[in-house]
Amino acid sequence: MTVQSKISSAAAEAAGVLDRLGVAPALWTGGSRPVRSPVTGEVMAHVHDASPAQVGAAIEAAHTAFLTWRNVPAPRRGELVRLLGEELRAAKADLGALVTLEAGKVTSESLGEVQEMIDICDYAVGLSRQLFGLTVATERPDHRMMETWHPLGVVGIISAFNFPVAVWSWNAALAFVCGDACVWKPSEKTPLTALAVQALFERAAAKFGEVPAGLSSVVIGGREVGEALVDHPKIPLVSATGSTAMGRAVGPRLAGRFARALLELGGNNAGIIAPSADLDLALRGVAFAAMGTAGQRCTTLRRLFVHESQYDAFVPRLKAAYASVKVGDPRAAGTLVGPLIDEPGFKAMQQALADAKAAGGSVHGGDRVEMGEAFYARPALVEMPGQVEVVKRETFAPILYVMKYRTLDEAIALQNDVPQGLSSSIFTNDMREAELFISARGSDCGIANVNIGPSGAEIGGAFGGEKETGGGREAGSDSWKAYMRRATNTLNYGKTLPLAQGVTFDV
Ligand code: NAD
Repeated sequence: MTVQSKISSAAAEAAGVLDRLGVAPALWTGGSRPVRSPVTGEVMAHVHDASPAQVGAAIEAAHTAFLTWRNVPAPRRGELVRLLGEELRAAKADLGALVTLEAGKVTSESLGEVQEMIDICDYAVGLSRQLFGLTVATERPDHRMMETWHPLGVVGIISAFNFPVAVWSWNAALAFVCGDACVWKPSEKTPLTALAVQALFERAAAKFGEVPAGLSSVVIGGREVGEALVDHPKIPLVSATGSTAMGRAVGPRLAGRFARALLELGGNNAGIIAPSADLDLALRGVAFAAMGTAGQRCTTLRRLFVHESQYDAFVPRLKAAYASVKVGDPRAAGTLVGPLIDEPGFKAMQQALADAKAAGGSVHGGDRVEMGEAFYARPALVEMPGQVEVVKRETFAPILYVMKYRTLDEAIALQNDVPQGLSSSIFTNDMREAELFISARGSDCGIANVNIGPSGAEIGGAFGGEKETGGGREAGSDSWKAYMRRATNTLNYGKTLPLAQGVTFDV
């Protein structure tokens, strides 16, 4: 059997899915930007980059749509998102298949990503009746003070390749119920899934009946298209998901024009295996968090601190799991680890492994699995003598650095001693350790878990991280507030005009 014949055509499958999802062929053929499947390495489509004039027109149209949409009552806006959720339910298998073809995720993870979109739509529908403000006690008689929340404007969404559709929905489902319009620049590596989502949005909009044109649009292109969103005066909020390098460029530009930034950047997530850990449970948690999505989640487990008393019991079992995990075509039943996104992703992995070796690391796995033009690699477990530079940087690949620790204070200090602050976890059955880990002097991350790995968040919680992860929060809890503007209103229903702080000003 030749290597090529092991993997069936991605291009033909993508064409069928795009057709069923109602994406016009003109949108994905004849353009100058090739779209390559990481599954087979084939070119599946040629999409059209948006010109500066087209980006400007999309933003202007979104702004005009916003002026109408903000007047629609929020629960009615929720109805549009409910219809979007219905379209996503109906298209779950197809959209999931396209996520697999374009981002390389194994089928169950791709379906999980679409499920996450459905979940956030449900959440946003409920939220559309709960955009509550406060009533505040006022110091003045016959006055009332309150907070009201109003639609903000056009939200620019810049997304990364590894969650090609869910990240849009975390932002857009909330933004639409909050009364905003959205312009989306997807990763240049995953434009087809974005076109498919836009087609589903348009189906929902047609059923809704009175959605202003331009409320949602997709602009395809590289960083220059992202920059056009970042610099446009009619975009008051940019939600940007991607590398810390991207956030470092985007953050100051937004600050320069006093626009809001919601930054969801790189992570370097850790786990701690404590003396009392349930090792069976920890093994499953670590394996999924470190190897799932071929190590290409922002929340992927990248650093593992194992108590010295557990090291010899746990690490050999983990090595066995690494050696046995099935790497291959993500569409095939039983595959747990699919491809890396592209050749630069593979090269970055090999470079990190070389750096780890040079720093005294002992590398298990990590070699290339030959599958034609695509880049598959066995996940790597690397036993490190200490937390050196390569361990502190995020390499977006399935590499898990394993280190020993003696005291919990030492493990927490090591876990926090990286520039990033996204997600973290401890495996322990000791209540004191668990509480300490999630306390003020425990993990410094936006997400701190006990007895589950750092990856695989639910939409109900606020998602995001500290330090170089950017500080943004998306999805659940009160994240919706980022998509609205807050007004404080004071109303006087009396006949006098008492001034605050007892100030007198008699004219
Ligand atoms: P990337 O930074 O290369 O690209 C992300 C997006 O930013 C793309 O759409 C890209 O075109 C755009 N972009 C890049 N430079 C820009 C600029 N100067 N101005 C405007 N837009 C610009 O990231 P990637 O390789 O697609 O994704 C992997 C990275 O994303 C990892 O670091 C991962 O941790 C991070 N990530 C973070 C989260 C999170 O929620 N914290 C989620 C997913 C991915």
